[in-house]
Amino acid sequence: MGSSSFITIAIDGGAASGKSSTSRALSSRFGLMHVDTGAHYRTVSLALVRAGVTPDDAEKAAQELKSIPLDTVVSGNNARLAINGEVPDDADLRTPEINAVVAQFATLPCVRRFLYDYQRGQVAVAKQRDFAGLIMEGRDIGSVILPEADLRLFLEADPVARAARRAAEGRVDAVAQRDKIDASRATAPLVCPEGATKIDSTYLTLEEVVEKIAGMISALLNK
Ligand code: C5P
Repeated sequence: MGSSSFITIAIDGGAASGKSSTSRALSSRFGLMHVDTGAHYRTVSLALVRAGVTPDDAEKAAQELKSIPLDTVVSGNNARLAINGEVPDDADLRTPEINAVVAQFATLPCVRRFLYDYQRGQVAVAKQRDFAGLIMEGRDIGSVILPEADLRLFLEADPVARAARRAAEGRVDAVAQRDKIDASRATAPLVCPEGATKIDSTYLTLEEVVEKIAGMISALLNK
């Protein structure tokens, strides 16, 4: 692969496994467009909550999603989902209320279908905007959204370490409970995709994880 080739990187893992911080650091180092698909599910959940839909009403959710337009707003290396023409504030996406319902909304096939084409379409968005590649993080990126990605990674960390990371950020988030829902759902469950590289970050600093993956990306670029 020459240095002018566009690269795609999929990073999956459980809640608070370090995907976002790692992806952000790598996106600015290598000039990649960063897409946080967890934020997509949070954005859709927020829109549904605001429309008075609860996760146990799949029919109403499907009906509501029919009239919701999606768009992408890129700022710096970060590509964010705009829904109804608005990119919600990060603070509104990470409230205890959204933490409590997002995994349940994410089990609904109508919600996953709604985001599937949009997420795959981010490769074209990154190319159009002349990024060197795309780094997309989530739960089903290497398995469902970008199974053909050049690099597929799965971040793991001990649940106690992950809960401690969230608590250190001052956030209320039942990470183990969300993982349980994510790993046991029928559609696109949280799994380490076959052939993906596992990285256990329990005893690694963020910098160590970033360096490890940066080495893999450099090797890819110099192929
Ligand atoms: O990554 P984050 O913790 O913000 O994701 C919030 C929730 O969105 C996850 O717990 C999961 O239910 C859902 N999600 C998903 N598939 C993805 C990304 C996130 O189901 N690719």
